[in-house]
Amino acid sequence: MSSHIQRATELVAEAESVVVLTGAGMSAESGVPTFRDAQTGLWQRFAPEQLATEEAFRANPSMVWTWYVWRAMLVDSVDPNAGHHAIGTWQQHLAARDGSLTVATQNVDDLHERGGAQDVLHLHGSLHSYRCLECGTPGTFDPASTGITADQDFDHETFVPTVHCDHCELGVLRPNVVWFGESLPEQAFAAAVSALQQAQLVVVVGSSGLVQPAASLPLIAHEAGASLIEINPAATTLSDTADIYIPSTAAVALPELLADIV
Ligand code: NAD
Ligand code: ZN
Repeated sequence: MSSHIQRATELVAEAESVVVLTGAGMSAESGVPTFRDAQTGLWQRFAPEQLATEEAFRANPSMVWTWYVWRAMLVDSVDPNAGHHAIGTWQQHLAARDGSLTVATQNVDDLHERGGAQDVLHLHGSLHSYRCLECGTPGTFDPASTGITADQDFDHETFVPTVHCDHCELGVLRPNVVWFGESLPEQAFAAAVSALQQAQLVVVVGSSGLVQPAASLPLIAHEAGASLIEINPAATTLSDTADIYIPSTAAVALPELLADIV
């Protein structure tokens, strides 16, 4: 075991209130590509402004739907990795001892839930829920009904039918994710801030720290006195601030860090 993991296990053993903040790197070893990694990032092939904005959706709904449906099918086709499972087990371990662990993620996948975590705060929404573009009412849509599959190359546009809102009948459904320029879901964000202000330990996993306001969350906890552990194979702007920076991946470092618990 490396010396930084050894020191980090001491913080883990002492902490009763924990927040785990995760980004796209958390799901990379499950086979969900991150946005910004040079080799595999989706952003290398598609410009975010073409896909993840309301303007793009209004201008080219079938292109944007195809992209989100493809990602939902991709997520459905993969499994949580050893890091997701370790976090789920850690949460149960602390709950059984009157402690608490809050998971707040920028990920729109459901791999934390499938790895056993409960009450996950989805700061950027979910690939598996939908709402009206005009009135916001939740609506149902089955991505599998489109025929788009995870292994299909989605370079071309696939026609995705317009689904009208049951409530206002004017709007169409859109993915319930946070697009560029949109604000974060208020309740999830407030719950994350509150948990961070009370946390003894914060573990940040697989986030480049480039997307605000999520990137500023670890600093709230740091200023309130929490210890900070960062897990990321590539150093970020947070790495110098973190008490312990572990240059490793989610599926390798988390089970090591939690070996006494999981
Ligand atoms: P990002 O793509 O900007 O950064 C990913 C980070 O993960 C990088 O710092 C990289 O070094 C690190 N990383 C790569 N492989 C890793 C591994 N195996 N273990 C640990 N870390 C690893 O992602 P971000 O900071 O989350 O950016 C935020 C945006 O990306 C959000 O809007 C989020 O919704 C979106 N996103 C989500 C998913 C998902 O839901 N799975 C996937 C791609 C992007
Ligand atoms: Zn509506």
